[in-house]
Amino acid sequence: MITIKCRIYPTIQQESKLLRTLDTCRWLYNYFLDKNIQSREDMQFILTELKEQEPWLTQFHSKMLQMVLHKIDSSRRALKALQRNGHKIGKLHFIKHDECNTFTYNQSGFKIERHGNTNLLWLSKIGCTEIRLHRPIDGEIKQITITKKAGSWYASLVVEKQWQLPEMINFKKSVGIDVGIRNYAYDSDGCITPNPRHLIKLQKPLIRANRILSRRVYGSQNYKKAKKHYQIMQERIARCRKDFLHKLSTNYSSKYDVIVLEKLQIPNMLRNHHLAQSISDASWGTFKQMIEYKSKIMVEINPRNTTVECSRCGSIIPKTLAIRTHECDQCGLTLDRDNNSANVIHDRGLMLLELPMVHREVTPVEILLGSMKQEKPIALSHG
Ligand SMILES: [Zn+2]
Repeated sequence: MITIKCRIYPTIQQESKLLRTLDTCRWLYNYFLDKNIQSREDMQFILTELKEQEPWLTQFHSKMLQMVLHKIDSSRRALKALQRNGHKIGKLHFIKHDECNTFTYNQSGFKIERHGNTNLLWLSKIGCTEIRLHRPIDGEIKQITITKKAGSWYASLVVEKQWQLPEMINFKKSVGIDVGIRNYAYDSDGCITPNPRHLIKLQKPLIRANRILSRRVYGSQNYKKAKKHYQIMQERIARCRKDFLHKLSTNYSSKYDVIVLEKLQIPNMLRNHHLAQSISDASWGTFKQMIEYKSKIMVEINPRNTTVECSRCGSIIPKTLAIRTHECDQCGLTLDRDNNSANVIHDRGLMLLELPMVHREVTPVEILLGSMKQEKPIALSHG
């Protein structure tokens, strides 16, 4: 299953229909939350009766209305699961006006047709809207979710891919990648991808938009305008970040068959406030997900000691975050700190797959750097 997210371009009439659909979903959601009916079967039954009392509901696709009940049901289940795991839980809230921004067509009531150069998305009881597909759909569409975000409309198509013969895997084409804040990625072949720092570059306009929003009277026309502007800024950053991650992950998965990454404990790391901004900016979790579905094999290894272990002899060389060079006093290996961890990550991945490890020889440049450092330790401390 893959999800393809595309923009749709409704006309003014279509948009008012879409907005009415969102409003109906909100009404239905709040209705059932208010009645506090627990079982899904009961909700289904009451919905059928409700349609007789409120005949206007029949103007909307019936399966789509059922998906609202499904949403309530699955949210409740998710809450219960959290409770079982020892989390404190609240309860489901009523959806406020303009907070409902998505509805779903499951299994039926949709079609994609091609008319000349344009693709049209047909939704039952709504009609045809223009959809911009940026990739071919090979497989069956199982579900379509329509979302309104920052004034634009999107359709997320869930496509079930046809089963394909597994491709040949070349285990020699393998790489270990160390992700970090200083460099977004440093791989075991010595390739460095600097951190794009989208948030920092685009942060000023975002902060400004947020400041303007906070000065507006809540709920006023100006407030709505400022809120929309703020959402557009957020969307822009998200799109830039996604674009970067897609390019990087596509690059790695086309170049290598086996990709080794560290298992990241992101929730733990996010508690550190200084790192939080950079980490959420870097969004390693998304990167890993992309690698996972794009690459032939992704291996996750235990991150313990990857930064301190020597990639040549395995001895533990403790270092603080400030020390950027790995210098082994046992075997004399001198390497960039991130390069060393990328090598360790790579080796551990190969070990997990029970493949022979290939030890890289140290290039003359690295040896030179190492000998220089021993003579003049201060000169290289910020290198
Ligand atoms: Zn060593």
